[in-house]
Amino acid sequence: MRKLALSDEILLKVEKPARYIGNEINMVKKNPENVEVRFAMCFPDVYEIGMSHLGIQILYEMFNRRDDVYCERVYSPWPDLDKIMREEDIPLFALESQDPVKDFDFLGITIQYEMCYTNILQVLDLSKIALLAKDREEDDPIVIGGGPCTYNGEPIAPFFDLFYIGEGEVSHYALLDLYKECKAKGLSRKEFLVKASSIPGIYAPALYNISYNEDGTVRSINNINKYMIYHNDANAGTTSDDVNSLKENKNEVSSNLKLSAEEFDGFSLDIKDYPNLTKEDFDKIPDKVRKVIETNMDDTFYPTKPLVPYIKVTQDRVVLEIMRGCIRGCRFCQAGMVYRPVRERSLEHLKKTAYEMLKSTGHEEISLSSLSSSDYRDLEGLVTFLVDEFKGKGVNVSLPSLRIDAFSLDVMSKVQDVKKSSLTFAPEGGSQRIRDVINKGLTEEVILKGAGMAFESGWNKVKLYFMLGLPTETVDDMKGIAHLSEKIAERYYEIPKDQRIGKVQVTASTSFFVPKPFTPFQWASMNRKEEFLGKAKIVNDEMKAMLNKKSLRYNWHEADVSVLEGLLARGDRKVAKCILKAYEKGCIFDAWSDFYDNTRWDEAIEEAGIDMDFYISRERDVEEVLPWDMLDVGVSKEFYKREWLKAKSEEITNNCRDKCQGCGITVFKSGVYCPGSLDK
Ligand code: SF4
Repeated sequence: MRKLALSDEILLKVEKPARYIGNEINMVKKNPENVEVRFAMCFPDVYEIGMSHLGIQILYEMFNRRDDVYCERVYSPWPDLDKIMREEDIPLFALESQDPVKDFDFLGITIQYEMCYTNILQVLDLSKIALLAKDREEDDPIVIGGGPCTYNGEPIAPFFDLFYIGEGEVSHYALLDLYKECKAKGLSRKEFLVKASSIPGIYAPALYNISYNEDGTVRSINNINKYMIYHNDANAGTTSDDVNSLKENKNEVSSNLKLSAEEFDGFSLDIKDYPNLTKEDFDKIPDKVRKVIETNMDDTFYPTKPLVPYIKVTQDRVVLEIMRGCIRGCRFCQAGMVYRPVRERSLEHLKKTAYEMLKSTGHEEISLSSLSSSDYRDLEGLVTFLVDEFKGKGVNVSLPSLRIDAFSLDVMSKVQDVKKSSLTFAPEGGSQRIRDVINKGLTEEVILKGAGMAFESGWNKVKLYFMLGLPTETVDDMKGIAHLSEKIAERYYEIPKDQRIGKVQVTASTSFFVPKPFTPFQWASMNRKEEFLGKAKIVNDEMKAMLNKKSLRYNWHEADVSVLEGLLARGDRKVAKCILKAYEKGCIFDAWSDFYDNTRWDEAIEEAGIDMDFYISRERDVEEVLPWDMLDVGVSKEFYKREWLKAKSEEITNNCRDKCQGCGITVFKSGVYCPGSLDK
């Protein structure tokens, strides 16, 4: 029987010990001695959040399909256990074998939100793996990050050996194969990392040097290959002419920047220090790393036996991912831009998967997942199937992210308790003007019509989501949030009194706008805390001035956290110093308001010499080299520039279904609506 890493005494002392013992239903059991690669897959947050993540479930089952690989899971120990592990010097372990993470070949970390960055350091630290990649030893696991934050992983780049850019199903097998091959041939850690960087979607940050202008902006991003010194004897494939021209080239660039191995985190610039590599290996390091995507969603891996936890987790249900990408071009939305193009799973495939997953888990709820489920072309067929097939069998059907129209209201009234549930709209902007700026294709007329239909069908609670601090925002846009809420309340009272169910309740919530890389707003100025709070006050005061104020509620997000998120989202490598300092000061679980400590972060920002005006308030010039310019998501910079200009002139852009806007993603020859797509 496997021995638990934590003693009974410790397990009885900590909150929810089931977080640390594994052995859940569908957990994969293998003998670690019988595999060639051990992969620790980490979600750097508490177990209940990590266990709800579909991406990990996909990769867990996909990796474990291979006999030569054992993939296990790791989550962040909650602060109570964190303290005990430090006091008693217990290394972080994986749930399946309970073995220390440090014994693994890989530590893969999925990075879903910026506020988990200090938890990444917690995981490395508790695992006794050097925090900085350059300090790691030959036998340390290769630390690889994946997930949305890798679209600008620069603020955490010094902590990672590799980043995986794109959809996890595509290149991981190639990476594992290469690792096995390199291990068998005795290649060094650095040699493996150089070779890995030629795999599509794999980005090895240390192989790219970032130089800066005097004003702190990025001057250039240079691949190590430009600086390598090649010798005839070290590389049979290189002629002396090649060598001379390379040297000239090298001298020319080097005289400008004077780079040494230090600037590449200790990667030598002399090919002689890589006895198992040739010039060709370095030539394959791309100047820009393009994301990888699945092109046929019916032929891609999907977990049929997801893990079922013993304790309540955030998502206790079967999740059916129906499509990837989004046809709508909301200008603030990173997911809508980086997950392009739209690719759908077929109805038949989804039906089969739904049966298999419900059978293997015993879950009593099934939920759809996508960025905009209403845009799935066979939604009616899918929803009708789910309701008809499962409703009578004690399985609840949950339908998030549906647009409110007659069809969705009809379906929702079948699957939800109308009296208890709220309707949700995300107009994001309070006025039509600002909704045009952000290209949110939702008009007041549509919202009021949807709300009216819902009220007539028995709903009386509405939730509205908005953003404050959007580019070009005016006081009228802010007040528009209160006015729209009021109009919805008024619409309710247009219903004859005897048909109303009590009072209406309209809850408006505002988050603060955080510009993200690879969106048309990546160049935008972001507000600071005082500006945000001033804007929230304008909305709050206007809400109180409304006739139906008793039916209206208003709440807003933490401004401190949004500003920090802004720094981490668009930061460059210099920001890593600040994250490290914050961690050293004791920051972990920053995504949790109970643990978030703004004073410590402020100190870290100051000590690291971070200029918040530079990173937060400054509008970037469209010609500026951006910290994430070594990556290519397929959408062209020209498209982003066009969209940024259109936003400023309040011009809207059609969605992909109505008219292709030539965003550049056709390089993948995929996508339901894209010209030249091979998989329509
Ligand atoms: S190529 Fe056209 S249809 Fe495809 S995602 Fe881009 S804008 Fe939309």
